[in-house]
Amino acid sequence: MSECVFCKIAKGDIPVEFVHKDEAVFVIKDLNPQAPTHLVIIPAQHIESAAELNDPKIWSSIMGCAVETARRLGLDKEGFRMVINTGEQGGQTVPHIHLHLLSGRIFGWPPG
Ligand code: AMP
Ligand code: ZN
Repeated sequence: MSECVFCKIAKGDIPVEFVHKDEAVFVIKDLNPQAPTHLVIIPAQHIESAAELNDPKIWSSIMGCAVETARRLGLDKEGFRMVINTGEQGGQTVPHIHLHLLSGRIFGWPPG
């Protein structure tokens, strides 16, 4: 998907600092952070949302990378939140599946 912002980042068309990058998944800092640490874990393959993702290997890449990144950065000490907004009512604004990894403050529940 050439016009997709996360595909453009994956291809290097939009320069960003990668927190992590391998053949399956990459991690960037969110442009509009909602917490002291706000990273986005994104699979390299363009899949529109969690509702469309069936491949357990890609699910494993996303979740595994999120938890490994949290541990590597020491976020596991105080805690963190992982969020996958899905579809219109789920609050998804970029139609390329991604997981938000947030940490550094206390998060409320239920979510807004
Ligand atoms: P969502 O609203 O769950 O679809 O999340 C999309 C996220 O992508 C938002 O938190 C945006 O701030 C973030 N975002 C959009 N464009 C960029 C970009 N170029 N670099 C980093 N984060 C971005
Ligand atoms: Zn994409």
